[in-house]
Amino acid sequence: DKFDLHEQFLNNQMVRVLKTIGYDRHYKRAVGQYLYDQHDNEYLDLLSGFGVFAIGRNHPTVISALHETLTLELPNLVQLDVSVLSGLLAQEILKTTPDNLTKMFFCNSGTEAVEAAIKFARYTTKREKIVFCEHAYHGLTMGSLSLNGEPIFREGFGPLLPGCSAVPFNDPAALEQALSGKDIAAFIVEPIQGKGVNLPDDNYLSEVEKLCKKYGTLFVADEVQTGLGRTGKFWAIEHWNVKPDMICMAKALSGGFVPVGGVAMTTKIMDSVYNRMDRAVVHGSTFSKNNMAMSAGLATLHVMQEENLVENSAKVGDDIIATLNAMTSKYEFLKEARGKGMMIAIEFHAPKSLTLKAAWAMLEAANKGLFCQMITIPLFKEHRILSQVAGHGMNVVKLLPPLNLTQKDRDHIIAAFDKTIYDTHQ
Ligand code: PMP
Repeated sequence: DKFDLHEQFLNNQMVRVLKTIGYDRHYKRAVGQYLYDQHDNEYLDLLSGFGVFAIGRNHPTVISALHETLTLELPNLVQLDVSVLSGLLAQEILKTTPDNLTKMFFCNSGTEAVEAAIKFARYTTKREKIVFCEHAYHGLTMGSLSLNGEPIFREGFGPLLPGCSAVPFNDPAALEQALSGKDIAAFIVEPIQGKGVNLPDDNYLSEVEKLCKKYGTLFVADEVQTGLGRTGKFWAIEHWNVKPDMICMAKALSGGFVPVGGVAMTTKIMDSVYNRMDRAVVHGSTFSKNNMAMSAGLATLHVMQEENLVENSAKVGDDIIATLNAMTSKYEFLKEARGKGMMIAIEFHAPKSLTLKAAWAMLEAANKGLFCQMITIPLFKEHRILSQVAGHGMNVVKLLPPLNLTQKDRDHIIAAFDKTIYDTHQ
């Protein structure tokens, strides 16, 4: 029999099972910022696979690059030899990073990028300890899990990596105290924390940079979520003009087609790990630098530039944030909208009116986040907009839209939020 993926996808056993349990919708197609169900209803995707589809889904430029990669019969994974595509992608990425970062390491995911940064920091500094932030998220493998700022992710999986400790985000004094023993290999931080979209104070990251220098600690920026235009700059660190020693990246880098990750670093760090005559490879993995990931990465960066997606992220994203923020005067339980570019949190708090206060208290007691579901569910059902409940107290509706949102999408989002919050308010 001929292998027919389309037939398998549309007519498969799974869809029949879903139907029997009353689940009558599945997505059959995805283009740009839109998903389409089997009835051709259009949904505006403001989750982007948790920040993966910065350039939108199924972008034709990336598809044709991948197609070419396959049809040209390029040599893939010729281990222990030069990988031309990875060199090209490294070159393109390093054009975007601060000038102190001159080398690229490639891997297959965000968590692997963080694992590499941990190992490289330890090896370069000859120190063991790593400091991270409360509420941080850097991935879920054993090393990155040891740097997870939410106890719920860590509990039951110990013992984790020794020598890892947390400091509050946005607190230079606490960081100085942690670093002052001069035995910390690295401080790792998300420029904007993904959980709840926590923004740093204006001077925080420059203080971080100074303190790390002062105590000989490497400054690692985890830009897995904030990177590649998400916040309206190519890298979020550009908002505060800082130069980390390493930048971790992943998610959006391959346009959403193939897993990819990477770390940009100084020559000093790269050389300390790899310039050893006694061992050719001390860290790496079989599939890193694979052709599909590298050519998808090259095409993705091309699209970002051609379509001015970083600029669009800033323009449309900042406008959405400001417009939603202005609604706080209309709706008392809408606390604030915050973020930068297309990294957006809409936070709610207990309302003052007695009936709503009682409803809030009941919902919160039953299940943290239920109140926010009163926003995300109608957004989805009535307005066909995908969003998620997030934040430390699950009190935030979080949006990570594709960076190519149009004015029309923007108007749809604003009208849908206004109507949904108004209805919830009644
Ligand atoms: N770091 C940050 C800041 C992230 O947001 C994530 C994923 N949400 C990761 C690391 C882990 O990436 P991955 O899921 O690809 O391992």
